[in-house]
Amino acid sequence: MEQETVNSSVGNILVQMNDIGKSYGQTEVLKNINLNIFEGQNHVIQGASGSGKSTLLYILGSLERPTSGQVFLAGKETTKMNDAQLSEMRNRFIGFVFQFHFLLPSMTCMQNILLPAKIAGIKEKKIKAKILEYAEELNITHCLKKYPFEISGGEQQRVNIIRAISLSPKLILCDEPTGNLDSKNTQVAIAMLKNLAKEAGSTLIVVTHDNSVAASFEHKITIEDGQIIG
Ligand code: ADP
Ligand code: MG
Repeated sequence: MEQETVNSSVGNILVQMNDIGKSYGQTEVLKNINLNIFEGQNHVIQGASGSGKSTLLYILGSLERPTSGQVFLAGKETTKMNDAQLSEMRNRFIGFVFQFHFLLPSMTCMQNILLPAKIAGIKEKKIKAKILEYAEELNITHCLKKYPFEISGGEQQRVNIIRAISLSPKLILCDEPTGNLDSKNTQVAIAMLKNLAKEAGSTLIVVTHDNSVAASFEHKITIEDGQIIG
């Protein structure tokens, strides 16, 4: 019943979190999290190390289940879904970018980028032209036939960004995406992420403890000791 009420009123709410709590054993990591994210509104989640940013992002992206509360993605309650439904939802709606890129070492960069399409059963030729365009834009065309260990950290991160965005997901979730980049490359990577997200029609949510990254976002969520304080 409740889901139907929310469904009919979400409009362009992409993510809704209602009274989320998360505990590991006795340790309460998130408390009373209420959050609405509208389509097209990029957000930064900022806070000190250990404040609960990653946990919040993983629950948002349904990689983790909350201990209590509800999460809706595009009007569908993910907290009611089973693991198979969640993987399908993630594959269809979400692109992930993590600090330590999970590029598979035994595949070329192009094969890595094509992996989400393969999992989703989408034909290579449907998205290859777009991938080549993105690669050109991010200056990594020369990396596509190489293996991840043959290119630099900054280049790997750009491969990672293209992989996350390749299926034009509704949501792109990034956990400290610039954590291992220097300050110049940090600004470049954030600008690239924003540009590509805009082109793909995706909404971007970036977790960071870096104030210079947070400063470039209009919408900010500040988390302290597991609670949203602003
Ligand atoms: P942040 O990303 O802001 O640094 P995290 O969300 O990673 O913070 O962690 C928030 C708190 O939850 C920390 O105190 C951390 O130790 C704890 N925590 C995170 N994951 C686990 C886990 N799997 N088991 C136990 N405690 C955890
Ligand atoms: Mg973290």
